[in-house]
Amino acid sequence: MKEITLCSRCILDTTVDDIWFDDHMVCKYCHFHDEMEKQHPLGDKAEKILNELVAKIKRSGKNKKYDCVVGVSGGRDSTFTLYTAVKLGLRPLAVHFDNGWNSDISVRNIKNACEKLNVDLFTIVADWEEFKDLQISFLKASTPDADVPADYAIYSVLYSVASKEKIKYIFNGHSFRTEGTSPISWTYMDPVYVRDVHHKFGKIKKFTSFPHMTLFKLLYYIFIKNIKEKRILEYIDYKKTEVDSFLTKELNWTYYGGHHHENYYTRFFQSYYLPKKFNIDKRKTELSALIRSGQITREAALKEIATEPYSYEEKNVEYVINKLGLSRNEFDQIMNAKLQTHKDYRTLLSLIKFLKGPIRLFTRLHLLPHILYLKYAS
Ligand SMILES: [Zn+2]
Repeated sequence: MKEITLCSRCILDTTVDDIWFDDHMVCKYCHFHDEMEKQHPLGDKAEKILNELVAKIKRSGKNKKYDCVVGVSGGRDSTFTLYTAVKLGLRPLAVHFDNGWNSDISVRNIKNACEKLNVDLFTIVADWEEFKDLQISFLKASTPDADVPADYAIYSVLYSVASKEKIKYIFNGHSFRTEGTSPISWTYMDPVYVRDVHHKFGKIKKFTSFPHMTLFKLLYYIFIKNIKEKRILEYIDYKKTEVDSFLTKELNWTYYGGHHHENYYTRFFQSYYLPKKFNIDKRKTELSALIRSGQITREAALKEIATEPYSYEEKNVEYVINKLGLSRNEFDQIMNAKLQTHKDYRTLLSLIKFLKGPIRLFTRLHLLPHILYLKYAS
């Protein structure tokens, strides 16, 4: 068995392919965290930046019904983002992409939050046959990116709704302090990759309703429509442990039992598919983020990680197989297929690496914060 080396500061280890360590055995993701911390300091500085941002957003939304779009899943981060937007005096439009895998808890959480905060909710329901086709395509592609269809769709939907409603700001519930940065070998997404996987494995050749994002569309949204994506939780002292009880009290919110387990497919993906097939335990990125931001000790995180990855029951796996319309045999073939990565498919990575200079400029301008981590991809 391959020996596993652990970061001396967080709990990421050599099960992450692209990890490196400095002389003190501190990993590259800890270095990345420190860089993000420099760019997004908390305290007075953050408050000032946030106030300026809120004023700018309000100006951009003058005479319009909404001034920002918030994607909601019923989970902790997106619910708290919506709450924060309202408390900052903004007028968000909540947008939900229903991909068919919602748990009852998530549906209730979204409804309760929007009602209590008096926010309009716009729900887009996926065409199930198309969405299922893309999910099965990613399972057959045999890469760790099997939950990309959901992220990709919501991402496209948020930009398209913002564009249609003439809203200039999209709020993203991510925070590097609580969620961390997923290693590129664990999660990778771009429009070319999604299309290539679908082209190779999909049964439905042409989608008519799936919200595809193309590079051209993304550039149009960013440069012509001037839509900006902001992670507002990174400007506030967002403490995971304190938020749950607060949301329950304020918004009648219910916890669903695990990171992103508000969605049945994500639960299967993180609790079963990734650990069983790829030996990837996504808890490591989240717990490592919490260690770096001082919200949990390394000892406590190591203790937690020593337990089975999340908790799953065989009946949940059965549910997923049946809902996707796969036979047990087909599913077993998927589980036993040779492991692949995004590098085995067409992606935008070579173009992105070629354009490294301009991308650095984008990130400096905070136009594309979500691809900042790509400079660490080598
Ligand atoms: Zn580390």
